[in-house]
Amino acid sequence: MQYNIAVIHGDGIGPEILAEAIKVLKAVGVKFGHEFIFTSADMGGYAIDKYGVPLPDETISICKASDCVLLGAVGGPKWETLPGYLRPEAGLLRMRSALELFANLRPAILYRQLSDACPLRPEIVGCGFDIMIVRELTGGIYFGERGRGLLDNGDESAFDTERYSVPEIERIGRVAFDLARKRAKRLCSVDKANVLETSRLWREVMHRLKGEYADVEYRDMLVDNAAMQLVRDPKQFDVIVTSNMFGDILSDEASMITGSIGMLPSASLGQGTFGLYEPIHGSAPDIAGQNKANPVAMIISSAMLLRISLGLTAEADAIERAVSEVFDRGYRTADIMSEGCELLGTKEMGEKIVERL
Ligand code: NAD
Repeated sequence: MQYNIAVIHGDGIGPEILAEAIKVLKAVGVKFGHEFIFTSADMGGYAIDKYGVPLPDETISICKASDCVLLGAVGGPKWETLPGYLRPEAGLLRMRSALELFANLRPAILYRQLSDACPLRPEIVGCGFDIMIVRELTGGIYFGERGRGLLDNGDESAFDTERYSVPEIERIGRVAFDLARKRAKRLCSVDKANVLETSRLWREVMHRLKGEYADVEYRDMLVDNAAMQLVRDPKQFDVIVTSNMFGDILSDEASMITGSIGMLPSASLGQGTFGLYEPIHGSAPDIAGQNKANPVAMIISSAMLLRISLGLTAEADAIERAVSEVFDRGYRTADIMSEGCELLGTKEMGEKIVERL
């Protein structure tokens, strides 16, 4: 069977880690008899240098014509002084909105082999944890009206606006309830309903939905408490659903307690099976071009792509098993290195995973 995958290398470590994911996907293709056709598209700083914009229209067309998209990472110091609408991150936001990717799935799993890399005490993490954060991706304060102005007294000021509609909350709520149903059947909705009106509407809609999902154990949690509970007792969570900004912050916190940001994949989904898959980390300019980046988040993102967009469950399982076996054998990149293990570079880690496949 043939599948079309758009690949966006991006900036910094993006091209290095994406090369390893492509190697792994090619090995999966050989093992299971599939043909993956990769079409490169430009985005981020690379696209700014080449075309003057972070997301050329052609990239959106290539993505729309593909079954799914695999993205390295974009951004870097070189483009940080550009005006907001021209920065690499603006390309990311436009891409999510152009492809109508409203649900961002961010698993935070602590592999038992990497418990040494987790900054939490062993009695807190126990045998590990497996949390799925579902973040709303195309609404809320990141997309609301914003601006600058002067107050009546002449002081300079700025504002950002958060707005959510009932259908927007309902569709992300359903994604989260459906996912919880397939997992441990526990859903925690995170908001700031004691202060924000958008959060009060969010909570009302979630409560209406909970009636339709009686088999899922549901609870609300304020975001400040959730930030605290994630480090106090992460095992209490199964699926967390939250708004764009809260999800952005909580998922980075969750990544840190898994040991390294270099371990965490993500999927951004719309209504159908189309999706964009990327590691949650950025372009890591501090280690770019040094063969030091951990390619595992990128490689597990490609496993999510196989499972969710292409329906290839056995193939996705094979990648995740290969990664786990490589850890069992004591191979580590620098970010997850611990005593008695063997240090590998980006390429070597990719090769070990291909070998295990
Ligand atoms: P970052 O995630 O790039 O890096 C944070 C730290 O984690 C760095 O010390 C880095 O070396 C380390 N790190 C990240 N990925 C790693 C990996 N795979 N292996 C080992 N170590 C890894 O975040 P930042 O430094 O805040 O941002 C750098 C650039 O990336 C900025 O321009 C930012 O805007 C951009 N960014 C892009 C995305 C994206 O493409 N989706 C996401 C976040 C940040």
